[in-house]
Amino acid sequence: MSKFQSQQITKVTFARGDGIGPEIMEATLQILQAADAKLELDEIQIGKQVYEKGVTSGIPDDAWENLRENRIFLKAPITTPQGKGYKSLNVTIRKTLGLFANVRPCYSYAPFVSSRFPKVNMVIIRENEEDTYAGIEHRQTNEVYQCLKLVSRPGCERIIHYAFDYARRHGRKHVTCLSKDNIMKMTDGIFHQVFNEVARQYPDISTDHRIIDIGTALIADDPERFDVIVTLNLYGDIISDVAAQICGSVGLAGSANIGSNFAMFEAIHGSAPDIAGKGCANPSALMNAAVLMLNHIGQAKCGELIQNAWRKTIEDGIHTGDIYRDGLSSKIVGTQEFAQAVIDRLGETPGTLPQVTFQTADHAPFELPEPSVSKSDKKLIGVDVFLDWDEHNRNAETLGPQLEAVTPAKWKLKMITNRGVKVYPDGFPETFCTDHWRCRFLLSTESDSTGYDDTLKLLAAIHESGLDIIKTENLYAFDGERAYSLGQGE
Ligand code: NAD
Repeated sequence: MSKFQSQQITKVTFARGDGIGPEIMEATLQILQAADAKLELDEIQIGKQVYEKGVTSGIPDDAWENLRENRIFLKAPITTPQGKGYKSLNVTIRKTLGLFANVRPCYSYAPFVSSRFPKVNMVIIRENEEDTYAGIEHRQTNEVYQCLKLVSRPGCERIIHYAFDYARRHGRKHVTCLSKDNIMKMTDGIFHQVFNEVARQYPDISTDHRIIDIGTALIADDPERFDVIVTLNLYGDIISDVAAQICGSVGLAGSANIGSNFAMFEAIHGSAPDIAGKGCANPSALMNAAVLMLNHIGQAKCGELIQNAWRKTIEDGIHTGDIYRDGLSSKIVGTQEFAQAVIDRLGETPGTLPQVTFQTADHAPFELPEPSVSKSDKKLIGVDVFLDWDEHNRNAETLGPQLEAVTPAKWKLKMITNRGVKVYPDGFPETFCTDHWRCRFLLSTESDSTGYDDTLKLLAAIHESGLDIIKTENLYAFDGERAYSLGQGE
């Protein structure tokens, strides 16, 4: 038995991935083995080689079975093929396994790794399943493409509770919410609203909210001010690369993808095809992800052992090319040599950088909050009809009366917008119009109510007039409150 720990064996699925994946995974496995991590490892094939066999998801059925059995996954980066037929395997795995929280700790290791910010110590907690990453995209007209941004209240509740719970478990004091609710008042709006609601349940944690633009600027310019950040999927993806890079390299940061039954651990960076096969990639991010995994499965002591040896290696100036600096580093090494340097230092601790002592708190399961949604009274009060229309020099002053001439008595054409801007009635001739028109119909008297039959009659009348309907969006009121955004200028 190792002198360092005595935990029971945990089964873990791993995948070597693409590009630099096999190199950094091999290095990471060697470090885990040398540190006597109590793991039984099952390898699965995913990514490029699977895509090339015609499996457009990039993951075969037997790999899913293995993941379902083991529930813990250490994954090297994979290359997402550019073609339209392929889905991102990373997104598929996160969503299929319900990995709703993406946890990305970000530290600076100055003065040993060059960074303008020596005291960065923040954790970015990114919502992992929703937002534009639902992958629901369409081409609707010759000119216009759309991507649906889906944000749910339960999705917001679980990630925001998770962020506050994480802060408490790790002795952190402040949670910052980043969103763009000045523009996306409904999707980002519900995220911010739930943040305010949940924050009241954690009076011991201070909070603030920032619009994502200035939030990102502050991360780039003054990152030491942040403690825990919680944000939506796309923003979290972008800011965690910014944060990792200003700390020295994307090659340093690992991440945990956490769900209620599964967890996946990976580097935040990609497969780096530009340096693949050269043996120079930094394995630290995947190794740090493996350390997060050890904490998660209750092998915190082994995680500490590796993390302290790694810090000592960094302190000793043994650096891969991405963090090597003349005068700062003592030796430039490749992937394998770096891994060996970490292995050689197992049992040692850093002299200047803080020595790591992990809390076992990570191991305790996160209790998902009960969704707080109560049933509201939902009433259909209108419909947005989207048209593909490219006639009469795209003049809405022609389209508007044409629609009004066929609108059934119960309905009123409220406005037409083009890319969200009102162009009828009273549009500006200067507004640039595409071939994609949103025509908003409301009931002609407010006291009227409508059923879907009325909507179908309206659609039939528009269709029979020869106009090309490409989609519709029902307009609802929930408990009497308008549940859709106004057009710009409406
Ligand atoms: P990338 O993160 O692979 O590379 C960006 C830059 O950082 C490159 O210059 C690269 O050489 C460098 N870099 C990355 N990791 C490094 C390391 N460990 N050591 C030293 N340098 C490193 O981003 P990209 O080039 O935009 O994406 C390449 C591929 O990776 C794409 O197919 C993308 O879809 C995929 N990707 C996968 C994941 C994942 O599997 N989780 C995440 C992001 C991107």
